[in-house]
Amino acid sequence: MNPLARRIARMIEMDGPIGIGTFMMLALHDREMGFYATRESIGAKGAFITAPEMTQIFGELIALWCATCWREQGRPAAPLLVDLGPGRGMLVSDMLRALRAAPDFLESLEVVLVEASAKLESVQRGRLTDAAPPVRWVRRWNELGRDRPVFVVANEFFDALPIRQFVMTERGWCERMVVSKADALAFGLSPQPVQLPIREDRIVGEGAVYEICPAAPSLAQEIGEAIATNGGAALVIDYGHAEQAYGDTLQALRSHAQADVLAAPGEADISAHVDFAALAEGARRGGARAHGPVDQRDFLQTLGIGPRGEQLARANPERAEEIRGALARLTQTEAMGTLFKALALTPAGASVPLGFA
Ligand code: SAH
Repeated sequence: MNPLARRIARMIEMDGPIGIGTFMMLALHDREMGFYATRESIGAKGAFITAPEMTQIFGELIALWCATCWREQGRPAAPLLVDLGPGRGMLVSDMLRALRAAPDFLESLEVVLVEASAKLESVQRGRLTDAAPPVRWVRRWNELGRDRPVFVVANEFFDALPIRQFVMTERGWCERMVVSKADALAFGLSPQPVQLPIREDRIVGEGAVYEICPAAPSLAQEIGEAIATNGGAALVIDYGHAEQAYGDTLQALRSHAQADVLAAPGEADISAHVDFAALAEGARRGGARAHGPVDQRDFLQTLGIGPRGEQLARANPERAEEIRGALARLTQTEAMGTLFKALALTPAGASVPLGFA
């Protein structure tokens, strides 16, 4: 066991098994040993690579998307551009560079980065030293303030939020817990079954796994409320499913390969599929309109990833192969093209945003 696993094991021995969500919070965010808290975890050298780490075009297209939404809403004054979970800051820095072509939007912006990790915040600060608009950092969405239009981007953020899992047994749905065995952390089940809010018409057999991510729809609701009240839009891009489905999607990634979820907490990224239907429902409860989800491939193609990629490849022949490779990875079905999806939120009366018609 690594030091964080030992600490978690001691906690379990004293206080009883913990839910998967608590395990995720400790593994990802423990101040001294958590994965995000201690590492520059994303990118070619990290545990996993994200779209903005592959190509600048991703951020350019999303910048265009935000500027278009802002213009279509009548250029509301003093908008915030909010990046939820900015990682190494690639997405937002690519966006700000691209927005030089939309100076009306860029010059009215304030940028807010919502980042839990002090370590990653310092990486982001380093990358944004000469950003034109003012930039500030908050740890959580609700530290943002609520009186201005917000344009929110969240790429691979919601998949990192803690989930809970329930397993169908002969006693009914029991929560999947993390327990401490002699020399390892292991999965176990809560002794008492729990009542789940599941549609009656779905019959499932023993062993079926049901996942929920309680924080995701409530955050989507708060974002929805902000957009419905003050204007703006949100673009959520992540891997996940359009409708809630049964199955265990919890996974760990270490050096770009699947790893055991419990084996080395703090050393691997841990995430789960995003339930887009739950996000959309949350946002609607907040008063916003949800569009999609659409496949990432279709979204990026509608925004012009093909022609922009060719232009960039022609201008940089020495990098042409790398650029075409990144584009293929983002759009091909067998790569990230359809597993990744985009969901947009707008005020109820706003026009359908680019890519969601
Ligand atoms: N959007 C980036 C990185 C995604 S990785 C990209 O596309 O490259 C997830 C990011 O979310 C990291 O920056 C991580 O520290 C942050 N994060 C995870 N959980 C968080 C939480 N609960 N609150 C704030 N930030 C969080």
